[in-house]
Amino acid sequence: MTYDLVVIGGGPAGMAGAAAAALAGLRVALVDGGPRLGGQYFRHPHSAEPLRGRFPRLRAAVAGRATVLARHRVWTVQREDDLLAVHCLAGERDERPRTVRGRRLLIATGAHDRSLPFPGWDLPGVLTAGGAQALLKGDRVVAGRRIVVAGTGPFLLPVASGLAGAGADVAGVYEANRLTGIARRARPAPAKVAEATGYALELLRHRVPFHAGQAVIAAHGDTGLTHVTVARLDRDWRPLATRTVECDTLAVGYGFLPQLDLPVQLGCATRPGVDGSPVVEVDAGLRTSVPGVYAAGEATGVGGADLAEVEGLLAGRTVAMDLGRTARPAPALARRRRRLTAFAEALLRAYPVRDGWRGWLSPGTLVCRCEEVPYARVLEARDLGALDSRAIKLLARPGMGWCQGRVCGYAVACLMGEAPQPPRRPIAQPIRLGDLADQPEETP
Ligand SMILES: Cc1cc2nc3c(=O)[nH]c(=O)nc-3n(C[C@H](O)[C@H](O)[C@H](O)COP(=O)(O)OP(=O)(O)OC[C@H]3O[C@@H](n4cnc5c(N)ncnc54)[C@H](O)[C@@H]3O)c2cc1C
Repeated sequence: MTYDLVVIGGGPAGMAGAAAAALAGLRVALVDGGPRLGGQYFRHPHSAEPLRGRFPRLRAAVAGRATVLARHRVWTVQREDDLLAVHCLAGERDERPRTVRGRRLLIATGAHDRSLPFPGWDLPGVLTAGGAQALLKGDRVVAGRRIVVAGTGPFLLPVASGLAGAGADVAGVYEANRLTGIARRARPAPAKVAEATGYALELLRHRVPFHAGQAVIAAHGDTGLTHVTVARLDRDWRPLATRTVECDTLAVGYGFLPQLDLPVQLGCATRPGVDGSPVVEVDAGLRTSVPGVYAAGEATGVGGADLAEVEGLLAGRTVAMDLGRTARPAPALARRRRRLTAFAEALLRAYPVRDGWRGWLSPGTLVCRCEEVPYARVLEARDLGALDSRAIKLLARPGMGWCQGRVCGYAVACLMGEAPQPPRRPIAQPIRLGDLADQPEETP
């Protein structure tokens, strides 16, 4: 079976893209590595599918119109003449190689947490803000009893209020940036103001203190986290004064990084986003620089679920038009995209990562947890003549482990004074050698 459009990613962007294209009469396959549709924003347990709001509407628009292929992890995408072959590992425990072919491809693979190393971040009990949120939303699991939420960005609010609402004792929210810049930069839509007010009231209701201009600069404990060092920071995040806060869990996150493995594999052009991290370059129709390949959602720049959905709708319509199906132009959607993009970019400017975090590191601080590479070895490699993050990787191995630099890549680039580079991963998902050698099955 060859589809008109294969969509990779079943989050807000991918679901909207698949729905719009299927509604225009295209044969669509919607592929996702997770057990069910929803992505990060609509993540939910099997037993509790959201019955109200945007998810059921998107779900209904996709159901029966597109072929949904869940538990399909895409490890690579290749061009085959005028088709695109999407190579997946399908299944739960006993995964089988499988290929889905399409005339057009929409990449909506989302983002992952942006992390910064600090002493003790490898202790059990320290997890990313997104990880804590995913556990809560996807499995109704509260990550700990007494939790500190820290980092930067508006995402800390839903994480802290979600945890407090689920019964955790949230000791505080520590936002590294001062809030003065936000009002000046971001002109939030009334819905966003209402959303933020809702989180603030929830934190008040649970007596969760919010500390701006403060950060967790170290985590402590023997076999697990017992307390953190919180510092009041200057404008560049250099510590001014410190104190300790007891907790058994730390949910820490410094925003998100677009997931670019697949578009980079295909040769799609990227450009630095407003926060310096690479994003896929797209035109107003969400076309990438590679003919037949489109991108939507966080992959084109971190902007949240609303923007992801709007971009998905626009991309699905563009694919339909490019394949000669009539789809009415949607100026209102394009205007909404511009407005949401402007707001998202203003937020990214208002919540920057300041350089002072480098001063939090001690020589023994692990920069790469997968390969247990301490900061001292990164400095050693630099002194041995490594001039960029790639040379550091070759000499000291940060980024050569399980996550292939997804967690430490950003920090290593910053330590070398470089702008973060697009990831070069020919294999986007772990695969068994046997499956690599095996001939993939065709999808029905
Ligand atoms: C852990 C985490 C939690 C978040 N929680 C929230 C939240 O609570 N509220 C909020 O407003 N924003 C949250 N965000 C921000 C989130 O990025 C956006 O809100 C929104 O979900 C983006 O939509 P999207 O469609 O671009 O990507 P996503 O929703 O991330 O969807 C991308 C989908 O692509 C799939 N995928 C990725 N790579 C592959 C592959 N190689 N093969 C197959 N499938 C693949 C993933 O399984 C995922 O389902 C969270 C982000 C993260 C990383």
